[in-house]
Order: sequence, then C-alpha cells, then structure tokens
Amino acid sequence: MVEFRQWFAKYQMFVLEYKVKPKPQQVQAIEEAIKTHQFVRNKVLRYWMDNRGQGKAELFRYNTDLRAGYEFVEELNSHACQTAVERVLRSITKFFDNCKKSKPGKKGYPKFQKHNRSVEYKTSGWKLDPQTKKHIDFIDKKNIGRLKLIGSRDLYYFQPEQIKRVRIVRRADGYYVQFVLKLDPKDTVKPFPVTQKCIGIYVGLKEFYADSNGHLEPIPQFYRKSERQLNRANRKKSKKYRKGQPQSKNYHKARMRYARKHLKVSRQREEYCKRVAYSVIQSNDLVAYEDLNVRGMIKNRKLAKSISDAGWSRFRQWLEYFGDKYGKATVAVPPHYTSQICSHCGVKVQKSLSTRTHVCQCGYREDRDVNAAINILQKGLSTVGHTGTYAWGETPSSLVGAILLGYGDSVNQESSSL
Ligand SMILES: [Zn+2]
Repeated sequence: MVEFRQWFAKYQMFVLEYKVKPKPQQVQAIEEAIKTHQFVRNKVLRYWMDNRGQGKAELFRYNTDLRAGYEFVEELNSHACQTAVERVLRSITKFFDNCKKSKPGKKGYPKFQKHNRSVEYKTSGWKLDPQTKKHIDFIDKKNIGRLKLIGSRDLYYFQPEQIKRVRIVRRADGYYVQFVLKLDPKDTVKPFPVTQKCIGIYVGLKEFYADSNGHLEPIPQFYRKSERQLNRANRKKSKKYRKGQPQSKNYHKARMRYARKHLKVSRQREEYCKRVAYSVIQSNDLVAYEDLNVRGMIKNRKLAKSISDAGWSRFRQWLEYFGDKYGKATVAVPPHYTSQICSHCGVKVQKSLSTRTHVCQCGYREDRDVNAAINILQKGLSTVGHTGTYAWGETPSSLVGAILLGYGDSVNQESSSL
C-alpha cells in the first residue's frame, strides 16, 4: 500500500481518454473482462472479511489461488487481476484511516461491488500499435483484440514506459480506453507569473462562491436547467418501471436516456468547475478556502442542495490541482465560525442562515458570505507554510480516471466525468 500511496502522491496522474467502438463480439469480451475484475475484487474482499488480519501478501496469494481455481480468472491478464486486489487494499486502508482519524459518520467499511464498469490493466496484456499508436491490442486470453482509438490527443509524444495503466471503461454512451500516464506536470508547464494577490473563498448557499474581494460568482444557469431536465428524464424512467416484473423495452430506453443525460450534465459541470478554478489560480498567488467535510454537510438537508450541486469538492480538487501545477499556494483552513466572526473587528456576530448581511457594532457592514471569505483569507494567511493537502494523492484510482488532462493542457480541452 505504501508504495502505491507514494506513487499517487508523487506524480500527477494524466489520463488520456479515447472513445472506442468495439464490435459485438468484442463488447462481449470486454464485458467478460469487467465481470472478471469484479469477481476477483469481491472474492478477495470476502476472503479478507472471513480472515481478518490478513495482510497484503495473503490477499495477493489468494488472488493467485483464484487464478488457479477458475479458468475465466486465469484468462484475464495477471496484472489486471492484481489491480482488482489493489482496489480492495485501497478501500481497506481508507476504512482504517477513517477509523483512526475517527471521522464523523460512516467509516466506509469496504463493500462488495455490484455494478463494476471498468477493467484496469497495468503494463502487460495490451500493446499499442508501434507505428501509429492509434490502435491498441488486448492480448490476454479474454480475446478483446484490436480497438481503434478515436480522439484527437496524440499518444505519439509519450514514451511507452510512461503508460502505467490502461483501463477500459463503460459509460452510458459507449466504451472508452484510458491511458494513465506518469508525468511531472511541472516539467511540462511554466508556473503562472506572480500576481501578488491573495484570495479567500467561501462556498455559500446563494452563489457558487463568494470571495474576499467582494465578488459573488453566481451558480450558472445551466445547473438549474439541467437539473430540471434530469428530473424529467428520471420521472419518465420511473413511470415505466414495473415492480416485480421484467422491465419493458421502453423502460430500458428511458433508463439509457436518463444515463446519457446524466453523463452530459456531469461533463458540463466538471468543465465549469475546472474553468473557474483555473481562472482563480491564474489571478492569485494564494487561495484560501474552508476545509469542509462535504459529506457531513450534505446530510444537512438545507445546505445539501447548493453544495452537492455546485460541485464544491470537484472545484476544490481542481483548485489544488492547478495550484500545484502552476506553483500557487492553496490553503484549506478549519471552517469554524468563519461566517459569524466580524472580519473587521473580530467580534462574533451570531446570525442565522437566512441573514444575508453581516452587520457589526463596529460599523462594518458586508455581504455575509464576503465577510466569511475575508475571514477565510485571514486564517489562510496566518497558517501559510502549512498548505492544503494535495487532493489527488488521496483520490482512489477509479476517481483519478475521471480526471482527464492533456499534455500541457489548457482548460478548454475536453474533460470527462465518472
Ligand atoms: Zn465588527
């Protein structure tokens, strides 16, 4: 586990993604591989649950037993089986970490996987066409065969040994092949020029964020609009659902329509978070924000809508990503009393969620969220040297796969979602 962590923390994961159009028999082979991956993962997890105290070595050994015992497991490339074990190990470590840190709420006891959508290879079991690098052959006994990589990004610039993982991912609109590349982003980009500006950011209810300069970034229109569309598609789907019976063709059609819509919306939102984060990092040297436990907050119904919606955690990840990439500081400060304290005189001014303006005895008057943002900035400046955790290090690889970045990328390039 340790080396895994270090690997993720040390290098940025650049994921290049290509659409592929497998033929029907290839689809079957891919689905077989995905199913096998899930099978291994669940079996290994079951083994760990039944034999608590078993470590990494035992789990890998059990994987070897599985390969000897089941022909369809043996057909999947051995390193691809290992990645399934690694996923189990990661969820176990995460669970123990949460327990150790006595994280509030659920600790995330590892779960069996029901709807796996991807299979992950390491450096074997596949081969890129050495000439064009536009085709990939999967050469294990699952017989997926050759797939054409559709997409404009060129693998040609990378050394084959930079490709650390290859994944096949199923989404609502088809299959994708991802290449996980090990690159140090600082080698590929120049840091942004120094701006001598610092900013505090507060995620409120009314807007996407409020900053310490008094700027309120509105939640984009399409958030609400797409939400309505999603709800409509979801209702149509539920109407066609028949309890306790096999589902109709129309139901499955509606289900797929909903899934595709969902994919589109999440891509749109991701793109938005990325763009805003980029411009914040570009125009500041230091960005301070609250170290929010978003999961805990989503439980609070009132707050839930704006936070989950506005994709705050993705936004934060992008801030930290761009901050690291372009040599800017990002500071996560403890969120206590940021909206209550007067940023002018330091006195606590109690106010409810509905009080939109901060009014203090000292004569200071400001939008409540802007006041909070100023407090965050002040906290941030007083704790510099102790900068925010670099988010990607903690992201499981299945999530990292969702982050699509190009070589020396600009924000305008396409991005993707889960
Ligand atoms: Zn005051």
